[in-house]
Amino acid sequence: MDIKKRIEQIKAFLPAHVRLVAVSKNHSVERICEALEAGQLAFGENRVQELVPKARALPQAEWHMIGHLQTNKVKYIVPFIHLIQSVDSLKLLMEINKQAQRINRIVSCLLQVHIAQEETKYGFSQTEIDNLIATKEVSSLSHIRILGLMGMATFTSDEQQIRREFKSLRQLFESLKSSNLPEQMHMEILSMGMSHDYRIAIEEGSTMVRIGTAIFGERK
Ligand SMILES: *Cc1c(COP(=O)(O)O)cnc(C)c1O
Repeated sequence: MDIKKRIEQIKAFLPAHVRLVAVSKNHSVERICEALEAGQLAFGENRVQELVPKARALPQAEWHMIGHLQTNKVKYIVPFIHLIQSVDSLKLLMEINKQAQRINRIVSCLLQVHIAQEETKYGFSQTEIDNLIATKEVSSLSHIRILGLMGMATFTSDEQQIRREFKSLRQLFESLKSSNLPEQMHMEILSMGMSHDYRIAIEEGSTMVRIGTAIFGERK
């Protein structure tokens, strides 16, 4: 099946309030073009070295950073990035703010929350998010907007576990939404769900899914 058909099938399944980010890491500019021509606008990449040349080749697309971001690489993506979904420390948030301020741009971010059992995944714990808000350190960051949360469930075939992890992220999202947040924080986007678990994520309240394999096929 071609990319266009796969995108159409996934979009037909998504409720109107759920946005699709096509994860194009490891796939060529030609393949991304095929997706663009099928009407897909948003693309996610996890490495700065790959993201920058692709964004240069296809500036008409909307680029999302979804992988761990080193502070020394922030400056390369801040001029064009649409959404940094993988913010996992206050230090990174401060560097994004600094680089954004230099070019007089406001950069949209999501806080990545660690919900999986696996030790290797990056992200804030729920307690760290609470502390981040309580300490009001975000309040002084004038050139960022925190628009929501991103999380990845454990890579497992245990659907109940995946569902529990998505539920916990949704609960955090809702509790933040109803609490007293700094001015630059608005809980609008809940980014959860990948190729193998996006159906569960949507049932658990996702508003943005990040899908690679189910659109472009297996990565090499
Ligand atoms: C690679 C990746 C995805 C997409 O994974 P697929 O299983 O190919 O859909 C989604 N989110 C993040 C953070 C990723 O690194």
